[in-house]
Amino acid sequence: MTRTALVKPVREPDTVAALIEARALAMHFQPIVSLADGSLHGHEALVRPSAGPWAHPDALFAAARQEGLSIELELACLRAALVSWSRQRPTGKLFVNLSAAALTQLLEVQEPQRLMEMVRSRGVTPSALVIEITEHEHVRDVERLQHAVLWLRRHGVGMALDDFGDGRSSLRLWSELKPEIVKIDKYFTREVARNGDKLQTLRALMHIAETFGSALVAEGIETDDDLRVVRDLGIGLGQGYGLGRPQAALAQAPLPGALAVLTSREVAVLPQRR
Ligand code: C2E
Ligand code: MG
Ligand code: MG
Ligand code: MG
Repeated sequence: MTRTALVKPVREPDTVAALIEARALAMHFQPIVSLADGSLHGHEALVRPSAGPWAHPDALFAAARQEGLSIELELACLRAALVSWSRQRPTGKLFVNLSAAALTQLLEVQEPQRLMEMVRSRGVTPSALVIEITEHEHVRDVERLQHAVLWLRRHGVGMALDDFGDGRSSLRLWSELKPEIVKIDKYFTREVARNGDKLQTLRALMHIAETFGSALVAEGIETDDDLRVVRDLGIGLGQGYGLGRPQAALAQAPLPGALAVLTSREVAVLPQRR
């Protein structure tokens, strides 16, 4: 708890428990774009607390861990994402973040049907939902996670592996879960136009993706150069500030600036390997 939290009005939540209780979890949505034609594939829901001292989700999740409320917070975010998604009724898929722990808890401790009810009661079809397995720690029990994933898949829910390559999202997890989608961590996308090693890494990941039957999302596309390179490589999907920032309102059409790059017919000059 910070000092500034203490001088705020009494009703301002200063614990995660109070924040959840106050239903002060606003969700923002960031577009995920098909790179071949600039069409909108879907949106990722990202939490932005509308009250309290936590400016960044990382700070909020750290506070939740301290209060022992990590899973409760994640499930509250999931509910908030479904609510604001169903209010706006956009086209495309809804990507939500869930840790392996929350996912297995949801499907083992709580009634698995509850998740599907939660989804359906908001008018979201299970096939419009993609769960991003987001890791704050290493997955300890891959087998339990695999059961959860198989169950969800049978019910039509899509799976994505988040932030692949940042150290917590492993190649073993990719090979065992064979998720429909793998999101490549922004480290490999950022400044790829000027870095031959990153370019070759993306190529190698495309081979692995083909082997395991996963589609790729390049995360963290910030510049037109990044965008051109990943599109010309043939990576299917992209996300990043250069394509659209997380916003309260869902985008209904692709973003004009990005579209110009995506539809330009010029041949990009890919950097040579150093
Ligand atoms: P993530 O799931 O990998 O989400 C992507 C993060 O990258 C978001 O940060 C997003 O704002 C940021 N980002 C998107 N495009 C760019 C870009 O071009 N450049 C840069 N530098 N960053 C970009 P955010 O919203 O701060 O979220 C951080 C993490 O917090 C998320 O990483 C996710 O692990 C977690 N998180 C956020 N919202 C939720 C939620 O509702 N539920 C759960 N369980 N976790 C969440
Ligand atoms: Mg994510
Ligand atoms: Mg990510
Ligand atoms: Mg991340």
